[in-house]
Amino acid sequence: MPSFVDPSKCDGCKGGDKTACMYICPNDLMVLNTEEMKAYNQEPDACWECYSCVKICPQGAIAVRGYSDFVPLGGQVHPMRSSDSIMWTVKFRNGNIKRFKFPIRTTAEGSANAYLDLKGANLDDELLSTEKPLKNPDPAKMAK
Ligand code: SF4
Ligand code: SF4
Repeated sequence: MPSFVDPSKCDGCKGGDKTACMYICPNDLMVLNTEEMKAYNQEPDACWECYSCVKICPQGAIAVRGYSDFVPLGGQVHPMRSSDSIMWTVKFRNGNIKRFKFPIRTTAEGSANAYLDLKGANLDDELLSTEKPLKNPDPAKMAK
């Protein structure tokens, strides 16, 4: 099942231009009700439960009801992200709870720059940034 927002926890990312959940959703599903300052998933059927919005929400206001093949009814899986790790809390149907903590990066937060090598590159070009144009075919060879 898709993501859903707990309105009692959501603060609309304090009125920024774009909320964290709107920024991160790969499917542009999250929108902000600017009157209520609460976000919601505008098209739950299109949500693929990637958990990105759950991980990024600074208020912990978003949850996902995972597919029953890995989260059976009565169970819960919830990620909590910090600057260098992520903690998954798994609650089993019998009430048992397990937590798993994983590092999520090898560089300092904010230091990665995926576009450094593209400095000065023409990003409007139809070629990929790493692609060289092909040589024009030799008309003499083409005639054969
Ligand atoms: S990221 Fe969280 S707090 Fe911010 S608007 Fe979305 S649900 Fe609300
Ligand atoms: S779980 Fe993924 S696809 Fe669904 S609303 Fe959140 S970020 Fe978008």
